[in-house]
Amino acid sequence: MVDKPRVRFAPSPTGELHVGNARTALFNWMLARHHGGSFVLRIEDTDESRSALSYQINLLDDLKWLGLTWDEGPGKDGAYGPYKQSERLGIYADHLKKLIAADLVYPCYCTEEELEEERQALILSKRMPRYMGKCRNLNSQQREVHAAQGRKPSYRFKVPQVPIEFNDLIRGTIKFEGESIGDFIIVRSNGMPAYNFAVVIDDHLMAITHVVRGEDHLSNTALQMMLYRAFGFEPPAFAHHCLILGKDHAKLSKRHGSVSVGEFRKQGFLPEALINYLGLLGSSFTGGREVLSQMEMVEAFSLERASRSGAVFDEEKLRWLNAIYIRSLNANDLIMRLHPFLLESGYLPETLDSQWFKNVIETVQDELTTLADIGEHIDLFFDDRYEITSDAKQILDAENARKVIRSFGEYLEHASGSSQEIYAAAIEHAKEKSGGKGRNLFMPVRVALTGKVKGPELDKVFAILGKDSACKRLKRADQWIFKNMEG
Ligand code: GLU
Repeated sequence: MVDKPRVRFAPSPTGELHVGNARTALFNWMLARHHGGSFVLRIEDTDESRSALSYQINLLDDLKWLGLTWDEGPGKDGAYGPYKQSERLGIYADHLKKLIAADLVYPCYCTEEELEEERQALILSKRMPRYMGKCRNLNSQQREVHAAQGRKPSYRFKVPQVPIEFNDLIRGTIKFEGESIGDFIIVRSNGMPAYNFAVVIDDHLMAITHVVRGEDHLSNTALQMMLYRAFGFEPPAFAHHCLILGKDHAKLSKRHGSVSVGEFRKQGFLPEALINYLGLLGSSFTGGREVLSQMEMVEAFSLERASRSGAVFDEEKLRWLNAIYIRSLNANDLIMRLHPFLLESGYLPETLDSQWFKNVIETVQDELTTLADIGEHIDLFFDDRYEITSDAKQILDAENARKVIRSFGEYLEHASGSSQEIYAAAIEHAKEKSGGKGRNLFMPVRVALTGKVKGPELDKVFAILGKDSACKRLKRADQWIFKNMEG
């Protein structure tokens, strides 16, 4: 490994940041941090029809949220900028001139329709569809005729008919036969550089030492190697990692469910959990460790860990990790992170007594899997949201339930002392008076106090509700039983 590797993440802002791309960013970021190198962010926005500023803004925001901060890139100037391809068009134009002068490229006047026709003909004759070089040997007169017809040329690279070979740090030697590759476009007819052209120039000029990206780019790398040779540039080291797969082992895509960082964010996943999960996916750490902080992953990082076989995305595992990270937060931090989710569920934390609310959050913290779950866990603490669920009604319907909650309530009316003492004594009283035991004692009390059959430990709930609220709720449950008996 070179002394200070320079790696890059080069997303195209054509959609939400996919977790697969986030994982590529993570590998690059870890490589840079592990070796004390630089992590460069480059925005590949030359496809004007598909790129959007809003995607770019979200992309930067998601990367920051994940903690994948860049040393050079948008908003962080360095010696190799600009870092947006749309701001580098002059550089690409100069490089095109060099290849034209060396007679390594030629203008191609074929229209979309003509190219499609050629493709179909090749498919029909069971040959590999590729550009067959129709415009390669046009003479200057023929070119002028096309130009006079108003055809704008694209520029194609003259693919040498020799095999291409390169070393991949994860996969070893990779070979491609030159004959199967047609002359490819490096500059489009609208003057914009094609991906393979711009990426070679940028990786070279930005002094990138390692290109780490998904295996879906392997065939691009073959084309890029040709361009490195054509320019006389030293290529960087390449590593193509496996992709994230869905349960059916097809590349993870929307039809498998959530796939973007933004979606997981909205669903209340913590960045720590998502990063941990993406770092874990398809690899293993010593001692079978599964919960690792970003820094621990950086320390343990090696490229070989980005295994060769595809990694199946398991949302259940991510949920499991998320719950662990939620449990490990201190209450104030958790409340801060919960804020947007609380608002979304109709709670206004600022209007609540902060100590009381902190108690509420601490009481439910261990039960949360995602931050978005919060509403359904805390509603039972709010009198105006108290509601007896149908499961709970079944409990209240059982024999003796009324006796239990009445005797529990009876005790409360006149009780004094700490909430802990009151609760314990009221339970004792209800037990004696009703003869109820175990489940038959606790469940009626639980559903009367919370309206639900499940929830945090009852003594804790009781302490937060307080005596007055508890009494009101017991009465409402009692009224429901009464009405139900009448009905
Ligand atoms: N803009 C390309 C993409 O998003 C970058 C691929 C690469 O890393 O070279 O797929």
